[in-house]
Amino acid sequence: MEDELITLNIGGTVFKTCRSKLLKYPNSKLGSLTPASEHYLPSSKEYFFDRNPELFNVVLDYYRYDRQQLHIPNYICGSVLLQEFEFWGLPLVNIAECCFHIYTKHEDEEAIQQNLFTRHSETQIYSNLTNSFRKQLWLVLDQPNYSRIAQFVNDL
Ligand SMILES: [Zn+2]
Repeated sequence: MEDELITLNIGGTVFKTCRSKLLKYPNSKLGSLTPASEHYLPSSKEYFFDRNPELFNVVLDYYRYDRQQLHIPNYICGSVLLQEFEFWGLPLVNIAECCFHIYTKHEDEEAIQQNLFTRHSETQIYSNLTNSFRKQLWLVLDQPNYSRIAQFVNDL
């Protein structure tokens, strides 16, 4: 049986691939396309998805190559790619060793940001505590009737 050519319109860019390639992951969104899909446009006989075509190249390569290894272009953020793979229902598991650093780069950056955020919050909390302590101290020292401690401090 002749392989069916599938036309995919991804955010305005047209991709063509064989049905047999897409069937590599039959449970994924692309592996299970039929003309009954809401994405199918009968007039142009294509499937339209409003997604980023640059990222789609990477997704499509995952179906194209026989070795199930994913290579990631340097300009692509691993975090965005992960979202993209989730959208297409693909497992993002076999990242090639040569490209693993591209994928993990965003995790390192997230850790750095998290660290900065935590440090900032701690400073904020410390400064709030300091202000609150100063206020308490001022009330204690300045107003003798504020509390028994104040009375005690004033009696000294
Ligand atoms: Zn690679």
